[in-house]
Amino acid sequence: MKDIIVAIDGYSSCGKSTLARALAAKYHYAYVDSGAMYRAVTLYFLNNDVDWANENQVLQALDHISISFKFNPETDTNETYLNGLNVEYAIRDMRVSAKVSEVSKIKAVRVALVQFQQDMGEHRGIVMDGRDIGTVVFPDAELKLFMTADIAIRVQRRYQELLAKGESITIEQVTENLRHRDQIDTTREESPLRQAKDALVLDNTNFTQEEQLALASKWVEERIAAKQQEIEW
Ligand code: C5P
Repeated sequence: MKDIIVAIDGYSSCGKSTLARALAAKYHYAYVDSGAMYRAVTLYFLNNDVDWANENQVLQALDHISISFKFNPETDTNETYLNGLNVEYAIRDMRVSAKVSEVSKIKAVRVALVQFQQDMGEHRGIVMDGRDIGTVVFPDAELKLFMTADIAIRVQRRYQELLAKGESITIEQVTENLRHRDQIDTTREESPLRQAKDALVLDNTNFTQEEQLALASKWVEERIAAKQQEIEW
């Protein structure tokens, strides 16, 4: 079986990571959450009072940041480590969510993270989700998905996740944060969120997780078969 790259892009809280994780498990591919990397950089900047309007401070800080992922069998997820510390929980809180899109606009941050992401996909066999995976990180990905969902569904999903984590938050705050991030992510100069020309759209407003996985799996298998055929020719 030939290994391919699956690039999944879309707005915040559309269910990208749920689908990406399920596909990776099904095909024994690596799963990489690129948003976690932008979140880890943001956490470092916040904790170390880095003024991200100052280019020198950003470059210096980037030199001191090392991000890695380690699989935790108890939570069944790849957890994010920043300079050796597990930050999986900290990077998901509202303090980071409120600032991550500002930090993600910075060119030097994107250059560093895109390089890291491309290195991770060097041998293919990877599912990566984010905002620029099909357009910038892996423009040659065999399968590109662009996910959407109604804002009301996205807000509910995110709200429930944060409540489950014990954050005290209102629906209005979650709505505001998602709209704010979408706005910055789609309008920024560096690698804005765009649907790649050759991406397939998956609107999961009315899909169950099983239905999404079945549809995306069909596409994955078609792409693997096509790649296999290319090689045999
Ligand atoms: O995927 P998640 O919602 O955790 O991503 C957090 C933020 O990181 C996004 O709102 C976006 O600003 C940024 N991001 C990005 N490019 C990516 C992944 C995430 O700019 N490939």
